[in-house]
Amino acid sequence: MELRGDVERGDNDYPLCYLLILMQVESALLFETPVEICERVFRSIRPRTPAPQFRVTFKKFANATSTIRIHGDVIELKITDLLADAPSPILEALAVILLSKLFRKPIPAHYNEQYRRYLNRHEVRQEITEIRQARGRKLIDPPAGKTYDLGMARPTLGWSRQASRTILGHCDAAHNTIVLSRILDQPHVPRFVAEYVMYHEMLHLVHPVETRGSKRAIHPPVFRAAEKLFPRIREAKAVIRQLCSRSSQRSLLF
Ligand SMILES: [Zn+2]
Repeated sequence: MELRGDVERGDNDYPLCYLLILMQVESALLFETPVEICERVFRSIRPRTPAPQFRVTFKKFANATSTIRIHGDVIELKITDLLADAPSPILEALAVILLSKLFRKPIPAHYNEQYRRYLNRHEVRQEITEIRQARGRKLIDPPAGKTYDLGMARPTLGWSRQASRTILGHCDAAHNTIVLSRILDQPHVPRFVAEYVMYHEMLHLVHPVETRGSKRAIHPPVFRAAEKLFPRIREAKAVIRQLCSRSSQRSLLF
């Protein structure tokens, strides 16, 4: 109790770090509510300012976040409920950190370290991970964007059972599946050739078959225009011609 009296008088003869150590002893020895801890920390940081009203709540954040806000003469702390059962010195360390930030004062390294060390304890880390998994959600919008639809381009992909030289790839829109001929899966076939065939098949998902009267355009002009955008299309086609030259039939991309 002697210590408490010294701190409360705000005796300026004590160096700051000594005061801080006294505070820590206090919060460990005396039972204080989180609001009382905040009030005491506030007095040590701003001894000449009239004490504001403190509102302290424990919130179910998705991580180990805690926040501080001042409106009027009320200072509101929202503390992660991970710390609801934390020892008083840890709450005190957090109060020092948050109030120092609020009043743009340097955070004493000792408190920072004590707080971080507590959060880094194995069981606390584990609890943070569990809470993240249970509460955290990735907030994303549906795949159909204003310009691009990400959902479309996720077909099932696979290699054909047969190493066909006549059908290098085909796209089954009904099953949202693209199959490439196993003939492309060889070390001497450059990767960009398989990529070209894949690109061609994916375009079928973007540009479906056009029907005009009785005519069906599998590769309508809009498809061909888009296909030309493939960077190495001429090289790819040349490799494909060579690859399929042993066959009398033309190689086909369906
Ligand atoms: Zn095609």
